[in-house]
Amino acid sequence: MTRTVYLNGAYLPETEAKISIFDRGFLMADGVYEVTSVLDGKLIDFAGHAKRLQRSLDELDMANPVTPQVLLEIHRELVTRNAIKDGLIYLQITRGAPEDRDFVFPDPTITKPTLVLFTQNKPSLADSPAAKKGLKVISIDDIRWGRRDIKTVQLLYPSMGKMMAKKAGADDAWMIEDGFVTEGTSNNAYIIKDGKIITRHLGTEILHGITRAAVLRFAEEVKMTVEERSFTLAEAQQADEAFITSASMFVMPVVEIDGVSLGQGTPGQFATRLREVYLEESRKVAI
Ligand code: PLP
Repeated sequence: MTRTVYLNGAYLPETEAKISIFDRGFLMADGVYEVTSVLDGKLIDFAGHAKRLQRSLDELDMANPVTPQVLLEIHRELVTRNAIKDGLIYLQITRGAPEDRDFVFPDPTITKPTLVLFTQNKPSLADSPAAKKGLKVISIDDIRWGRRDIKTVQLLYPSMGKMMAKKAGADDAWMIEDGFVTEGTSNNAYIIKDGKIITRHLGTEILHGITRAAVLRFAEEVKMTVEERSFTLAEAQQADEAFITSASMFVMPVVEIDGVSLGQGTPGQFATRLREVYLEESRKVAI
């Protein structure tokens, strides 16, 4: 099926949406993005994604071509036009396409940002078979740049990390810096020990996950203790449970780290409960 996508003010068939070869997203990875999930045709955590988008743009001194209200309307229009019940909406803003390639940022009064959105239909998003099985992760060095709190489209290393995991027969990779786990290639990482949720504190070393914020809020509501601090791979391998969070995976249990099984080697009770709570509570406030 041909999707209807959004490009700079127009709704177009995906085959007709074209951008310049001089676009700085293409040439320099000079762009930011967001992924928002859709459940029952409604947007999950839209306000959080819109807020983080603005922060990423501000940190890079990049203009936002639309207000949050217009952005919401575009998201909803794409959900309707593509009849998305469960799935994802990908959004990308780049610094636009100047007349020529240059390291220097173009004049924003002349070069306008490029705004692209498209949908991804995922009928089994909430009812994922992986959530029942749990994921296997490997560890890799975190050699990404130092501003991981900005959600940029520089995704080559995370993509290489997924390939390393795939080659090792695993599902994903957790990245390690100075002996501590930073995060997964496209998700935040957590362990559970004696009923306590441990996840790395916020900083420039990790992306400030929108799902992370919601899960920690819900965890406290169900009286689980949360400790925001760094943890090592060895601590993770001795944990009772582990899981990851992201807008596309929600809460996803991790059952093996570098070949070491956690607990019974099946999704743990806390991670499973947190997934249920997250889905239940997020659906209630979806827009
Ligand atoms: N960390 C990284 C590196 C990511 O790429 C992502 C999502 O793409 C996340 C964490 C999770 O963020 P969110 O929950 O906002 O999807």
